[in-house]
This record gives sequence, C-alpha cells and structure tokens, in this order.
Amino acid sequence: MKAFINLILSLFSKERKVDKVLLESRKEDPQILPISYKELNPRLQSEHSDLEIKNKELYDILDALNAYTNKMFKKNVIITMIYRTQAEQAYLYRNSKKYAKKKFKSPHQFWQGIDIRSGTFKQSEIKQIAAWLNRKYKKGNYYDWVAKCHNVGSGKHFHIQYVKA
Ligand SMILES: [Zn+2]
Repeated sequence: MKAFINLILSLFSKERKVDKVLLESRKEDPQILPISYKELNPRLQSEHSDLEIKNKELYDILDALNAYTNKMFKKNVIITMIYRTQAEQAYLYRNSKKYAKKKFKSPHQFWQGIDIRSGTFKQSEIKQIAAWLNRKYKKGNYYDWVAKCHNVGSGKHFHIQYVKA
C-alpha cells in the first residue's frame, strides 16, 4: 500500500516538474512570430529548408534576424526570394542595359542571397536592421556588405548576402 501511495505521489510530482519546465521554457522564449513567406509560397518554404543544407550560415542569419526583429519591433521576417535560376535572373533584369551588356549572376543563384520584405518595417527600423546585420556578419563574409535595403528588380526589399569566405 505504501509503495502504491509513493508511486502515485511520484507521478504527481513528475507531472508538476514537467509543467514547471514547460512554464520556464515559455518564459525564456515568449512565443516569437515565426519566419513567414511571401504569399505563403510553398516553393519558398521548401527552399528555406534546403537553405539549411546549402548555406547553413545564411540560414542561421535568418533565424537570428527573426529573433532580433521580434525582440526589437515585435515583427517577423517575411522571405520574398531565396533561390533564383538563370532564366529568372534574365527576366528580372530584362530592361537593364547593364545586364544586356554583361549577363551578371546574382548571389541568389548560388544560395548566397535572400530577400526580405521591407514594407512591414518603418524607415528607422530598416536602418537599424541593416546596420545590425552589417555589423554582426561582416566578418568572415565573402561579400563586402551583408545587407542593403534597395529598390531593384521586384521593388523595394532587403537583400541579404552571405557565404563563408
Ligand atoms: Zn536579393
């Protein structure tokens, strides 16, 4: 009988322990808004999971950026482009004289670039995000700069580029 009571008691205390752990982990990680995708595009979702294998550093930068924008502005990151084919590159720059002269490639064609929607952020937030990324991930990057909010191709957006030098 005593063993039975002990078993019941231990079950209760185990459950309470689990509750406590859950509660603490929620405190540490107050439900952050997850990374999202332009028009919830399934191609972007699958490319995002491929990115973890193709370019882990850039994948991790995205995660860190989403944590940062959640913490600072209570907003998430919305991915608008990851991988780009040569045909898509040509279409994007179909009206560019520069591209007509020299068919330059984009970091997106090598899993080294990602685009993030900028329209959800205020001008001051855009400045802060670009400065944070360029400060934090400049070192060890093959490219001269990490992030720029620019108006090329498909309109104004953040372009982020990184590959381990
Ligand atoms: Zn881009």
